[in-house]
Amino acid sequence: MGKKHMKGKAPETVFGAFQFKKDDVLKLQIEDMGVDGEGIGKVENVTFFVKDAVVGDVVTAKVMKMKKSYGYARLLEIVEPSPYRAEPKCEFHRQCGGCQLQALSYEKQLEFKEQKVRNNLIRIGGFQDANGAMEPILGMEEPYYYRNKAQFPVGRDKEGRIVAGFYASRSHNIIPNRRCHLGDGVNERVLDIVIGFMEEFGIEPYDEATGRGLVRHVLVRKGFFTGEVMVCLVINGRSLPYREKLVSKLLDVEGMTSITLNVNERNTNVILGEELILLWGKDFITDTIGDIRYRISPLSFYQVNPVQTRRLYETALQYAGLTGAETVWDLYCGIGTISLFLAREAKMVYGVEIVGKAIENARDNAALNGIENVEFFVGKAEEVLPEFYESGREAVADSDEGDSKAGRSGDGRKVHGKDMLHPDVIVVDPPRKGCDERCLETIVKMRPERVVYVSCDSATLARDLKYLCGNGYELKRVQAVDMFPQTVGVETCVLLSRKRSTTRIEIEMDLTEADRRECIGKATYQEIADYVMEHYQAHVSRLYIAQIKRKCGLDVGEAYNKPKCENPKVPNCPPEKEKMIKEALKYFGMIK
Ligand code: SAH
Repeated sequence: MGKKHMKGKAPETVFGAFQFKKDDVLKLQIEDMGVDGEGIGKVENVTFFVKDAVVGDVVTAKVMKMKKSYGYARLLEIVEPSPYRAEPKCEFHRQCGGCQLQALSYEKQLEFKEQKVRNNLIRIGGFQDANGAMEPILGMEEPYYYRNKAQFPVGRDKEGRIVAGFYASRSHNIIPNRRCHLGDGVNERVLDIVIGFMEEFGIEPYDEATGRGLVRHVLVRKGFFTGEVMVCLVINGRSLPYREKLVSKLLDVEGMTSITLNVNERNTNVILGEELILLWGKDFITDTIGDIRYRISPLSFYQVNPVQTRRLYETALQYAGLTGAETVWDLYCGIGTISLFLAREAKMVYGVEIVGKAIENARDNAALNGIENVEFFVGKAEEVLPEFYESGREAVADSDEGDSKAGRSGDGRKVHGKDMLHPDVIVVDPPRKGCDERCLETIVKMRPERVVYVSCDSATLARDLKYLCGNGYELKRVQAVDMFPQTVGVETCVLLSRKRSTTRIEIEMDLTEADRRECIGKATYQEIADYVMEHYQAHVSRLYIAQIKRKCGLDVGEAYNKPKCENPKVPNCPPEKEKMIKEALKYFGMIK
């Protein structure tokens, strides 16, 4: 086509973003929502992102910024509200930016999150059949008041009053708000006491601009299952005047267990400094997930939604398919939360984590729970794992006996057994950026039967799954868990299993009743677990099924026959679950 021809085209027939400019006012039907929760609508085929509009709204909005093929617009008016709108609990939700989805009904929030995971699996991971593996997202019964931790910045407002609250989105202006509806009611109680104390005794809040003043942040944590409360004042100094007065007031708060100061004298955005000073009680609180106890210091990482964390870990445990005989690696293990959760049902768990302090906590937590079949290593997963694998392979080849435990070779080098080099299960729970390729490469070389991938970012998750599934694994199950209701965050747990390389021949045949009996005598663990779930809405682990099968004199398969003496902590199947499993065994004709 000649240039002349192009020139002749009338501008009004060209569809493109350049027909819009800043300050234009548009009317849009919001048809979708973006990954950050912004409403998406189209005018003349050009996509606009409108913050605070929700799917189903008809709105007017003002163009703020145009890009080549899309634009950003600011919500002016909701002309027709969406049927999916919900009344936000928090009057500051638009300014705060912490809860991007509060104006959307919880049901629709869950749909949005499930869709986000599905889209990423399909678009980034190339899993066109992702739907088949996806289980319905696990939402919360009460999608508010779920956080066990809050950090409130303290400052002064324009009138000079001391305030505490949250930073406005993308700024350091404090929106005064002592009652965040994501957190526990104890937060407000603590803030009232701390601010009342500061006013009474003339204690200055920290001023970022001048670097003067004392109190920077108030950190509150609550053990949801133990009720223990922790208060930590982050201060720009090393001592707090009239500290005993504050302590005596805080002791009125039910469950008060730990009162500390954290020293942060640097001019930085990082909230916590390294040094802790104990004012009263212990310098940690304890909480439980399932029946594991965890010690939490003001400095440790701990999941913020304990109710959903338990469900997430239970999913990971179920996907790991443990019977007490397995060797497991838990990469990116933090303070060992998942490692300890799995250790009760595994032979041995090895954890890897980059932060040394977290590994100290992990070891303390193992001791606190009397769990001995775990070992933790400090370092990057993408370095520790390949080093173990390469050095271990040499060592095993040298000793050539394939002892299943780590030990020392004659020259003092650590020797790693075959189990460690070729574990049954590898669990990963990396930060947002996902796994480094070297880590994935080594996982593939180690050939675990199952990989359980726990992720807080479904885009990097999909990328990494694509790699693993391109190298011998297949996608089996995907469970999205809503760990952060009202926000756009979604956690996902995925099960991959190693593909068998044998060629399969599919034969169709009609079964006689006798044939059927022959086959049903061999129901799989999954079929038995599914039967129990369907009939009793209860989860039974492979470990329990193996225990009951063994009790009934049935063959439990080679892996399940390994001795349990190395792991005395293996739990016993409770009687009510035993009954359910036996019912399933009867149903499948495996016992009478
Ligand atoms: N599994 C834990 C922690 C998950 S958060 C839990 O559920 O509580 C991710 C963890 O990965 C953090 O503790 C972080 O410090 C750690 N981490 C980040 N990069 C890492 C790397 N390259 N190698 C190992 N650990 C890393």
